[in-house]
Amino acid sequence: MKLERIAGARLPKWLLGDAWPAISGQPVLADLKLADGKVESVTPAAPGVQDGTWDVKGAPVLPGLVDAHTHLDKTFTLPRMRRVQPGLLGAIDAMMADRLGWTPADVHERASRALTWAYEAGCVQVRTHVDWWETDRAPVAWSVIAALADEWKDRIVLEQVSLIKLTLFQELAQARSFAAQVKATGQHARLGAFVHSVNWDAQALRHVFIAAGEAGLDVDLHVDEELNPLAEGLAETAGIMRDTGFSGRVVCGHTCSLAVQPQAQALATLDAVARLPITLVSLPATNLLLQDAVLGRTPRQRGLTLVKEARERGIPVMIASDNVQDPFCQTGSYDPVDALAAGVMAAQLDAPFDTWSQSLCRRDWLSRTPLAAPTLVGACADLVVFERADAWGWPSRAAHRTVLRAGVPLTLSDSRPLP
Ligand SMILES: [Zn+2]
Repeated sequence: MKLERIAGARLPKWLLGDAWPAISGQPVLADLKLADGKVESVTPAAPGVQDGTWDVKGAPVLPGLVDAHTHLDKTFTLPRMRRVQPGLLGAIDAMMADRLGWTPADVHERASRALTWAYEAGCVQVRTHVDWWETDRAPVAWSVIAALADEWKDRIVLEQVSLIKLTLFQELAQARSFAAQVKATGQHARLGAFVHSVNWDAQALRHVFIAAGEAGLDVDLHVDEELNPLAEGLAETAGIMRDTGFSGRVVCGHTCSLAVQPQAQALATLDAVARLPITLVSLPATNLLLQDAVLGRTPRQRGLTLVKEARERGIPVMIASDNVQDPFCQTGSYDPVDALAAGVMAAQLDAPFDTWSQSLCRRDWLSRTPLAAPTLVGACADLVVFERADAWGWPSRAAHRTVLRAGVPLTLSDSRPLP
């Protein structure tokens, strides 16, 4: 059933623009006119409900969601693992043992389950990293994910990133070989690397950018996922981008070490980042679980990057799931709203719905051309209606929702009946 109109939608402030009317500082509700699977217009709510209208009575409504950082190759492996040592490096060891048994069918089944969950949550785009340890060929999961990107193309834009440890980029020729393989995979593929103080190599990082620049690839890094103040991968990334004139979009996930560096140093790095096409991605669930993790000891630190200081500088910040039900994170749901809920608590985020919900929706922040003023008008009517929540308490009570794709509900509402 196709809807013609949604009445009484509470849209977030970031989507409405400054001219939208407000009462007592709260944006007035919106009526969305839908046509041909798109949002034709967004206007302040008018009294009276017409035929073909779904009156959502003030329910929060967001555009389709983005999960900007996941690991579909590793997901759902936890049940078959034995004891996992705490912390990031312990999880990597457990994963290395498990991946020896991966087959295309195994990866396909687990990743498909993940995509189904993401789709049901309202995701229109998912970016996954794929572990890549080989120098002579792509790993088993790489081609499986590429096939899934095609299988799912009408439902989810699936992007894939090579997750290659930095030391494998020591030789420029090898870096170029990785870039060529990623480029050949398709436009949805990105060159990525794991940048950590255990494998730090500034020259290798430079090779990542030289190779990506030559191939016309965007870059997505796991960088400074540690509470070591000496980890300066992000600052070095900014320096290399400046030196090489790299102009593609660069996504930097984690960047936890900013939180433990001297304030002036961390803010100087963010100032440099703000002048470059860099998007940060914070992964609150895994960073709370894996940072400052020692057996038998309560963690003292949160492990999050400086999300507020980054946004103050206009740096795009996405919040994403990261690992789901694997040795890195035993919980998780592929619902980006759950990731944001963890971030609201861990980072004490103000106005989660009106401000921070854009960290789950801004697909343009992963692209080369971020929008100056995002709008629903003219966009595909891919919408998420949180029928049992309100804009004050969101993301509380956000689990129940109706997902619309091109104006068609995936599930039927029971609390605010559809027409
Ligand atoms: Zn990750």
